[in-house]
Amino acid sequence: MPIKVGIVGYGTIGKRVADAVAMQKDMKLVGVTAHSYSFNTEVAKQKGYKIFTIGETDLKLNGINPDGGISNLLDEADIIVDATPKDTGRDNIEKLYKPKKMKAIVQGGEKHKTTGISFVAQCNYDEAINKDYVRIVSCNTTGLCRTLHAIDKAYGVQSVHATMIRRGADPGDIHHGPINAIVPVLEMPSHHGPDVQTVLHNVEIFTTALSVPSTLMHIHTVIADLKKRADVDDVVQVFKNAARVRVVRNAEHLRSTAEIIEFARDLGRLRGDMPEICVWQEAIGVTSNSHNKLLYMQAIHQESNVVPENVDCIRAMMGFKDAQKSIEMTNEVFGIK
Ligand code: NAD
Repeated sequence: MPIKVGIVGYGTIGKRVADAVAMQKDMKLVGVTAHSYSFNTEVAKQKGYKIFTIGETDLKLNGINPDGGISNLLDEADIIVDATPKDTGRDNIEKLYKPKKMKAIVQGGEKHKTTGISFVAQCNYDEAINKDYVRIVSCNTTGLCRTLHAIDKAYGVQSVHATMIRRGADPGDIHHGPINAIVPVLEMPSHHGPDVQTVLHNVEIFTTALSVPSTLMHIHTVIADLKKRADVDDVVQVFKNAARVRVVRNAEHLRSTAEIIEFARDLGRLRGDMPEICVWQEAIGVTSNSHNKLLYMQAIHQESNVVPENVDCIRAMMGFKDAQKSIEMTNEVFGIK
């Protein structure tokens, strides 16, 4: 029997998770919610997805006949992926999912304490097995966790300092941008470091962050003190072998976030998405005196990197125990090697 999945919150993340679920052989997309009428609802209708209303909507006024309300979606689904804006997922757990004893995943806008379990598939899949409520960490935290987990396994991480250079807004967002400024996060550390520790519990990490006038991707610069000596060629191999990490090269003219997104479009990726974390080969370095300090730079496609994590988390929460197998099954439909 396929796992029946409902999507609550059909925006940037929700619509991508819906498509990814619809493509999995072991899952069935029950439907998606519409909070108000928009082009997203039109696209969902064209794709043949069932549409369930949440709250008062203007769907009928716009010629869409909904397939039911939120309670119908909850009745039909085994598990909900909630991709609503910050704090709404937390409220929905209390108001909608707990009363129906419904399993639910929330996203990185929610706090760790909302679920007590935060998830990145290759780092801590087992923590989510058979759980009722799990949070997928934010795009930035997912990016840091994927590469630091690989480095920690290979060399042992003593401590990390990372700086997040964040896009000002998503490409379709007219409410948070454009900005004509470089805006530092004026808190130390930024929230990303403590957030990484909700997944990589033993990694000592300090983070700083700033936003820049771009919409395409984030960039991280990472400095890690290692327990063992490293050499650049070996580190390249470690990243090449890590799940959902792609080593990109200036030599192939992938010098910037703009070219990475163009590359994703040319690969024929749905919506031009790049869910892998892209580490620049030429920007991996180790200090020459000790070989114990590693530096690297990576790019994060904020709209898509958490999407495969949602798919794996569904399997874990529904009792599928093989993390590696789940990651492979998910990667196959995304075309991730
Ligand atoms: P979004 O604004 O693009 O989409 C949210 C959707 O939820 C919209 O379609 C909106 O109509 C709908 N909605 C609003 N209130 C609702 C309600 N009460 N019930 C049901 N639906 C409602 O937001 P997003 O960028 O997809 O973010 C969703 C979550 O994912 C947040 O927690 C965010 O922090 C997290 N996240 C976002 C990104 C990103 O870069 N966009 C990356 C990683 C994680």
